Amino acid sequence: MKKYILALDEGTTSARSILFDRDFHVVSMAQHEIPQIYPRPGLVEHNPAEIYACQYASMTECVAKSGVSPDEIAGIGITNQRETTVVWEKATGKPVYNAIVWQCRRTADYCEELERRGYADLIARKTGLRPDAYFSGTKIKWILDNVKGAREKAECGELLFGTVDTWLLWKLTGGKAHVTDRTNASRTMLYNIHTHEWDRELCELLTIPPQMLPEVRSSSEIYGYIGLMGAEIPVCGIAGDQQAALYGQGCTQPGDLKITYGTGCFLLANTGETPVLSRHGLVTTVSATCENEPVQYALEGSVFVGGAVIQWLRDGLRFIESAAESESVARKARDNGGVYIVPAFAGLGAPHWNMRARGVITGLTRGAGAEHIVRAALESIAYQSEDVISAMREDTGKSINALKADGGASANNLLMQFQADISNLNVIRPAQTEATAAGAAMLAGKAVGFCQSPFSDKSSVTVFKPDMTLDRREKLLNGWRRAVKSCLLSEEE
Ligand code: ADP
Repeated sequence: MKKYILALDEGTTSARSILFDRDFHVVSMAQHEIPQIYPRPGLVEHNPAEIYACQYASMTECVAKSGVSPDEIAGIGITNQRETTVVWEKATGKPVYNAIVWQCRRTADYCEELERRGYADLIARKTGLRPDAYFSGTKIKWILDNVKGAREKAECGELLFGTVDTWLLWKLTGGKAHVTDRTNASRTMLYNIHTHEWDRELCELLTIPPQMLPEVRSSSEIYGYIGLMGAEIPVCGIAGDQQAALYGQGCTQPGDLKITYGTGCFLLANTGETPVLSRHGLVTTVSATCENEPVQYALEGSVFVGGAVIQWLRDGLRFIESAAESESVARKARDNGGVYIVPAFAGLGAPHWNMRARGVITGLTRGAGAEHIVRAALESIAYQSEDVISAMREDTGKSINALKADGGASANNLLMQFQADISNLNVIRPAQTEATAAGAAMLAGKAVGFCQSPFSDKSSVTVFKPDMTLDRREKLLNGWRRAVKSCLLSEEE
């Protein structure tokens, strides 16, 4: 019986590797920063060779410093920044262009054109997504249109496309596996989430030769083997970061919801075997599902400015010295004192989708102090999340069972309690905050019989229970809605 399982967690800012034991406790971790490339405002790239080098270095370092023999590692799971697009030469493995990162807005005009030409409905029906520069499809098209000779080579089958999972797997297996999983495929705007195939009509619309697309598999099965310090280890789990976190949080039943409170907040609600198309600005995505199990779906909504509003308090306003201090400062105020912040620094995401909205602070009186502003900033994270949760409730017509929280800002007890109060739900925070990497490891573990998954350690969770009267909740939510309205109004002037 092998004792360990390894997760490769390739994020936007760093590549990490984490070795877990059978109880999914972290045994060892190593991390390498990924250099960010900003050619112009709004454009973001990574060097694919650096992505691989950072991931490989973190993997060998993580295993070496653990003192664990690679023979003891049952398998490897990959989780990755989603949508980021790499195109490389099949024969040489040489990327034809930098990786175009999910945040990159270079194809925004083309996406608006797709919308003008009336393709939004078709895209939503087939892929569950809205035409947006965020997703991989238009990024591939951009590379084929802008790199000399790329389109001709792609048409002759000489180029391969992959999201970061595919790129890493291809490199790790020495070019043997050109594979992705359904969760990553569902973020390309080329994958039909109902038929589970690359969609011919969408490939034609975006002029993408289907032969460059990877084979799509489940999120938990053996894709290939890699040689690591003399051992042969199967790579047997793949999921995009948010779906890996959903799985790692044990959200495998319809109605289960997780929120990752990071720089932004990502909310995913499992909708079971039914893909729910949103009428409230959410996207439909495929959940991480294992081989031979029915495919499950999720509704997804994101909040652009989550923990980032706390960074602004620290670095912009200098009201706090550290993110953690936001809690003690906010506790100095009994309540928000009527102050609301809508941190629409870069527009508002789901369910409002207003790119031109800008932030506002409302309800200031002479009595408002730094503690009220800090409290209002923390509360804004919960209000924005509640807006997405309520869109999810309306889209599914079902109640939400509970919220499972992870990510950096989930350490804040005041925020967690306020979320429970304002959403009238239990908020459950596990001691294991590495939900994304743990999810990838659990998917890999399941494929090789290492664990029944998802593994859950119920003993170590903290539960925040709602403790607010209905009247109070309504009053606060009304104040928030008024603040959001004024932020949308400020955009019209
Ligand atoms: P990411 O993966 O997006 O880089 P993390 O999950 O590491 O994000 O979380 C970092 C974010 O969480 C930062 O924006 C930071 O301001 C916020 N944060 C971290 N600790 C706290 C805290 N105790 N209270 C509130 N916000 C916090």
